[in-house]
Amino acid sequence: MKITFGEMREMGLRGVLVYCHCGHHVALDPDRWPDNVRLSDLEPRFICQGCGSRGADVRPDFERGNPRLAIRGYRSTT
Ligand SMILES: [Zn+2]
Repeated sequence: MKITFGEMREMGLRGVLVYCHCGHHVALDPDRWPDNVRLSDLEPRFICQGCGSRGADVRPDFERGNPRLAIRGYRSTT
């Protein structure tokens, strides 16, 4: 996915998920990276804490990060 953190924030997404091929994954707060960095730029930098291999899959956290979905879910229950 070739989007930047700035584009991701414009979409209302507030989290990233980093996946390793071994199944290990971690959720991160994207506020630490500037708008001009692409998510894919980070992939070679991660070293998995589970298996120790370098290189991961970085993608936006759609489920946690989209406030419109959260608001709709909240309103539907009231
Ligand atoms: Zn791993």
